[in-house]
Amino acid sequence: MHLARFPRARFAHLPTPLEPLPRLGAALGIDLWVKRDDCTGLAGGGNKTRKLEFLLGEALKQGADTLVTQGAVQSNHVRQTIAAGARFGLATEVILEERTGSKAGDYMGNGNVLLDKLMGAAIRYVLGGSDMVAELEVTAESVRQRGGKPYVIPGGGSNTIGALGYVDCARELVVQADQMDLRIDRLVTATGSAGTHAGLVAGFAALSVDIPILGFGVRAPKPKQEENVFNLAVATAEMIGAAGRVKREMVVADCDYVGEGYGLVDQGVIDALALAARTEGLLLDPVYSGKAMKGLIDQARKGAFKGERVVFLHTGGAQGLFGYQSVLEPALA
Ligand SMILES: *Cc1c(COP(=O)(O)O)cnc(C)c1O
Repeated sequence: MHLARFPRARFAHLPTPLEPLPRLGAALGIDLWVKRDDCTGLAGGGNKTRKLEFLLGEALKQGADTLVTQGAVQSNHVRQTIAAGARFGLATEVILEERTGSKAGDYMGNGNVLLDKLMGAAIRYVLGGSDMVAELEVTAESVRQRGGKPYVIPGGGSNTIGALGYVDCARELVVQADQMDLRIDRLVTATGSAGTHAGLVAGFAALSVDIPILGFGVRAPKPKQEENVFNLAVATAEMIGAAGRVKREMVVADCDYVGEGYGLVDQGVIDALALAARTEGLLLDPVYSGKAMKGLIDQARKGAFKGERVVFLHTGGAQGLFGYQSVLEPALA
């Protein structure tokens, strides 16, 4: 694998820190570390920054003048894509899906949505359950009709190009751990649109690094999530010259902590957000990293990581906390 073969726009703050979480680890009885991908820079950072370096590289190469993407109302991916567009002088048009059904004022207008508006994107809202792939094409066509050149980025930036960002993260993490003489027994991440998880799997496979990765799902049931991650990891590995290296058993998702559904917060998530905040001053997010931490906490308490050094990939998203004030505040009182 040789990532310099792919167009890339450089703006991420890399490498992100790899830090111990001694007080949270002690509370869970494991040796817990965090890879701080909430610190990637770009309007608050998060995991989409790494993907967008490669996606913007491709968009600029193609001479695009408008980025088109989609996400749920409180999408971190949308916020970061708008920021990347602003950074390179491209217009951004986004479609926000009312996926959670929430019409609360903070959900619809605060958090990521406020930042989207601050950075100046054209926003179109559609009902939950809409065909978002079709909606992307509707927007792209309207850009073409007025003579623009759209570059369409799928939800979450999760295609093979975006996944390259997490191939690079896999490499970065191993180099960093080796420099620190830090043996890693397991990597834990949230897994949603699959690009993060798939890029990590493809990256480790290409590097022959056998650290198991556990993805905590936030939406789809386990068979669907694992299939999505596996298919994207296989395609990504092929693209980086590591065809055939990704095996099905390398892809493991635990989707038992989704709760009521995507973007819906339950007491387990609130407890996880509070525990990380109160033991480490670490801000997780309500939709992804908080849900993954809910899973990690429960599994750790059941002894699943006994004797292991676990690295939690913090994928960012704390800006979304402000879209959930009406849900969080009563539970924290
Ligand atoms: C998008 C996102 C994820 C999920 O990453 P995928 O590549 O979509 O699976 C996790 N955490 C945060 C904060 C995100 O915004």
